[in-house]
Amino acid sequence: MILDGKAVSAALKAEIAQKVKTLPQTYGRVPHLVVILVGEDPASQVYVRNKSLAVEAVGFRSTTLVLPADTAEETLLGRIRELNADDSVDGILVQLPLPSQIDEAKVIRSIAVEKDVDGFHPLNVAALFQKMPCIVPCTPKGIMKLLASAGIDPKGKRAVVIGRSNIVGLPVAKLLLDANATVSICHSRTANLAEETRRADILVAAVGRPKMITGDMVSEGVVVIDVGVNRDKEGKLCGDVDFDSVAPKASFITPVPGGVGPMTIACLMENTLECFLKRRSG
Ligand code: NDP
Repeated sequence: MILDGKAVSAALKAEIAQKVKTLPQTYGRVPHLVVILVGEDPASQVYVRNKSLAVEAVGFRSTTLVLPADTAEETLLGRIRELNADDSVDGILVQLPLPSQIDEAKVIRSIAVEKDVDGFHPLNVAALFQKMPCIVPCTPKGIMKLLASAGIDPKGKRAVVIGRSNIVGLPVAKLLLDANATVSICHSRTANLAEETRRADILVAAVGRPKMITGDMVSEGVVVIDVGVNRDKEGKLCGDVDFDSVAPKASFITPVPGGVGPMTIACLMENTLECFLKRRSG
């Protein structure tokens, strides 16, 4: 069965849009998300455009700041300081990756933690790992919602996550662990990847290598979450999973596009609303 991220995310965004309608009456305004794009990376431009469209569709205020590729680190940090201090701004998202002259970790640390809609700030990460209230990173949060939407409870299941990045692999492994799965994390030095993936009841692929997970690497009935966004040899969008050989063995599988991607954006909307409400309630 297909895990339809498009449908689940549409329902989540519709729910958020309903809530947004009531906000001006209580708080005098709607949430405001500022997205900063540095440079002209085509994939980043597409992501930023999709985010702004979603922001407007749910009824938030949207601002996109586009800075040239040669922007100095201090200039970007200065803009973020202004946005941190601006009470009309509820969320700040800096689209990654950044040009090489800018230290990404420094930029992430500079965003006010209460406006960190991506959940990448070290204090948010620390809170996530200590099971404290926090902003949960959008992609891992979206994956958990997608599983829940299909009634898939990770409790007692073997979850195998491929990838250990701060934005996907590590946080999704933590969320699966919190949901009582038995979790393995694989990476580029894993000795025998296929041996690990065949053990999975739930397999999350977050690598960035087109179609690397093939049918012989999974067991019958596996739930497959494909996070990868890649281009195949023909230039067509594809995931980390070879859909054609894996889908016949899977009980559930996410398509690319239309799986994890839309969930990430819907969760960004939810995180923006959370930041707004938290700041309003003090
Ligand atoms: P990173 O490049 O930060 O991490 C990739 C991970 O994959 C690393 O941990 C790396 O291991 C591991 N890896 C690389 N090669 C192999 C291999 N041959 N076997 C096993 N593991 C391997 O990527 P991200 O986590 O940022 O993103 C992963 C993918 O997800 C990308 O395609 C990205 O575009 C996509 N993405 C999609 C989103 C969505 O909303 N749909 C959101 C965010 C990302 P090591 O640590 O050892 O280097």
